[in-house]
Amino acid sequence: MRVTHKYDAIVLGAGFAGLYAIHAMRQRGFSVHGFEAADDVGGVWYWNRYPGARCDVESLQYSFSFSKELEQEWEWSERFAAQPEILAYIKHVADRFDLCRYISFETRVESAIWDEDRARWTVTTDRGDEWDAAFCIMASGSLSVSRLPDLSGLTTFKGETVHTGMWPDRPIAYANKKVAVIGTGSSGIQAIPVIAEQAKQLTVFQRTPNFVIPARNGPLAQEKQKTWKAQYEHWRARAREVGTLYEFASQGALDVTEAERIAEYERRWAMGGVNFVHSFNNIYTDAAANKTAADFVRAKIRSIVKDPTTAEKLCPTDHPLGSKRICVGSNYFETYNRSNVALIDIREEPIVEIQPDGIKTSRQVYPVDLIVFATGYDALTGALTRINIHGRNGVALRDKWNKGPKNYLGLMTAGFPNMFVITGPGSPSALVNMIVGIEHHVDWIAECLVYLRDKEIDRIDVEPEAEDQWVAHVNESADKTLFVKANSWYLGANVPGKPRVFMLYTGGLKKYREICDDVAKAQYRGFQLSQTTQRKRAL
Ligand code: FAD
Ligand code: NAP
Repeated sequence: MRVTHKYDAIVLGAGFAGLYAIHAMRQRGFSVHGFEAADDVGGVWYWNRYPGARCDVESLQYSFSFSKELEQEWEWSERFAAQPEILAYIKHVADRFDLCRYISFETRVESAIWDEDRARWTVTTDRGDEWDAAFCIMASGSLSVSRLPDLSGLTTFKGETVHTGMWPDRPIAYANKKVAVIGTGSSGIQAIPVIAEQAKQLTVFQRTPNFVIPARNGPLAQEKQKTWKAQYEHWRARAREVGTLYEFASQGALDVTEAERIAEYERRWAMGGVNFVHSFNNIYTDAAANKTAADFVRAKIRSIVKDPTTAEKLCPTDHPLGSKRICVGSNYFETYNRSNVALIDIREEPIVEIQPDGIKTSRQVYPVDLIVFATGYDALTGALTRINIHGRNGVALRDKWNKGPKNYLGLMTAGFPNMFVITGPGSPSALVNMIVGIEHHVDWIAECLVYLRDKEIDRIDVEPEAEDQWVAHVNESADKTLFVKANSWYLGANVPGKPRVFMLYTGGLKKYREICDDVAKAQYRGFQLSQTTQRKRAL
């Protein structure tokens, strides 16, 4: 017989978002239970154990701000922490706040069905049990559904295949092997230099070259950490406005002389990291300004890569700099100077099929023992549309979103009452330090639930007009930027058949937070708050 467990809230996922959601709900006196498909906490940092995986937001920023003790006690060892250290940090958070006891691990949520009469969700898992909750909090991740390309012959391959986003927790032997990496986004560009150091031969299959800025990673000086920690309150407050603390410029790229511009790009290139895109204040918005930054990076690629043909293949030309997520790497372009590394441009030489011993392109067969797929994710919507979610009148979320993920403030979608999404489509999400975004969403949702509890309201849904207006605002904001000029995962372009809709809010974190705050202050303007008939009868 099915056992039904009753909770105020169900939380899906035990990454940064799920853990903080569980903590925040419990602190406010809600009963809560979490589910995680993996056997431990960590989310992205559990799944992405590939060589070279690390954050590109500096460690001191890429961490929780909700506990002063936590931020003081944790010591980061590097400017950009590597995956094992971030995972250790997340485990420390889970232990420190005793969160694992509220989570079912190795449990995948398969469905969530809304019951209009009772104003509750019924959640089922792959363990066959059933959970009953007033609220569903989807902390299922924006980049948690890895994508393998549909390559013919893949199942005939005799060697090993692995995706960066599902890297097993065991050594993957690549030393002295013939390795192929397919994909040159942020994951591929981190893995390639590390694999190249040990592989016998590394063949990189590139579809689109990317702008890669050097990380200039290194040990985090004790002094810097100490000073930063002493000023944490100030930095965190600033991060809540801007998302990630970069050195923001006050002038445009074309407002200065060429010599001044180049000097600024050189300074930022030496500084390392995403700061480069903020060299001038119009890189994301003005095509001519953007071209000056792109030309600078292309010149750097040509100066680093010794073989001119390879250098040209590595120069991105089909999208503005930053319009696809800018990559931050270490020794990426330098790696192509190694004698054991070859670059194949699959636009010139498409992959025809995978054979038992290698990869066949239109020109030749490349013998391979291990294939690393760094081919990205069904981002932002993938984790949600894979669950059987049915809202009012039995409407399926995947049907509602078949032309794009309509939502209000990125927090809820009309017709799916009491279901909140964390850093999903319609929010700034991956355009800012995601931990800042996660904390904002969780705090907003937690306060909303307190408001509903205080007012004895048990149902919150979105007004369809508010949703339409928000979607229009998200689109208008995106159209003012160069983000819409690239075939990126931001607009679903990497998944064949996915609707092409720019999914992130580009209006800035400060404005976004102000809008969310105003909505809450105006008794949740744009939301429908109501009581079930059952509750009305009881009163
Ligand atoms: P996730 O960490 O993705 O956690 C979601 C969890 O939900 C997963 O563990 C998944 O197993 C689980 N789940 C999903 N569906 C179900 C289901 N149906 N049932 C049960 N469990 C389910 N962001 C930055 O700001 N800075 C960075 O430097 C940065 N680096 C990144 C590096 C990599 C390699 C990747 C892939 C992403 C990076 N990101 C970065 C973005 C990253 O997604 C966020 O920073 C953050 O880790 C997201 O946390 P989350 O809890 O929202 O989601
Ligand atoms: P991604 O940016 O989507 O890159 C995927 C790569 O695979 C692209 O080069 C893509 O080419 C290629 N590809 C996809 N399908 C292919 C196919 N069928 N054949 C050949 N090539 C194919 O994915 P990702 O690198 O995993 O990064 C995703 C996001 O995770 C990042 O944007 C970032 O937000 C986050 N991340 C951050 C870091 C970090 O530095 N902290 C590290 C890793 C990931 P096209 O460009 O032509 O589609």
